[in-house]
Amino acid sequence: MLDNQQNNSIFDRFKDFLSKIFGKNLSTQGKLIVLTGPSGVGKGTLLKALKANHPDLFLSISATTRQPRVGEVDGKDYFFLTREDFEAKIKDNLFLEWAEYAGNYYGTPRSNVEGKINEGVSVVLEIEVIGARKIKDSFPDALLIFILPPSMEELEQRLRDRGKDSETAINRRMETAKAEIAACDEFDINIVNDDLKVALQKVEVAIFGDSKVLK
Ligand code: 5GP
Repeated sequence: MLDNQQNNSIFDRFKDFLSKIFGKNLSTQGKLIVLTGPSGVGKGTLLKALKANHPDLFLSISATTRQPRVGEVDGKDYFFLTREDFEAKIKDNLFLEWAEYAGNYYGTPRSNVEGKINEGVSVVLEIEVIGARKIKDSFPDALLIFILPPSMEELEQRLRDRGKDSETAINRRMETAKAEIAACDEFDINIVNDDLKVALQKVEVAIFGDSKVLK
């Protein structure tokens, strides 16, 4: 009879063999990476650049009950749901995490994310603080990154320049931003998004380590 150690090593070699054939990493689970930061801090732009540099990363598409902004596409930017549909999905435990933010529900669909991680694909979630805490509880190995603005004035300016939110929405988001920034110490790493290129490189170093990024 094989003891456990022998058994594991044969199993690992078999997985390596399959990985080589299929060109996929079957030996390890993908990483779960959480990117959080106040609205307007530039998470979306950072994520776009990250995905362009690392097409293998899977960016989870969230569900939300907020109205689509001009140019946003259902199933690409978000899955836009009614409150009724969202609440039904909460009941059915279809979200990995969910939270209410500025009067709307936001949630991470469970199935895609769990499936990708089990396939060895690393997954990035762009979510707010309450959701990030829930992920930390259920995935202690997740890497939690918090993106900070260079200053509150700069954040407000960016929200205004974006021109996508009403004055009331901007004020509400600034209030929420203060509370979110107060929680940044709970995250594994804080990165200031002053210069996009520098911030991106710091995110890459946090995810992949020095070697892949700085070569
Ligand atoms: P926005 O309305 O600006 O697209 O997003 C508002 C906030 O909701 C942002 O901080 C964004 O990161 C967060 N968010 C987006 N998707 C999710 C999600 O699936 N879960 C949680 N908890 N927050 C999310």
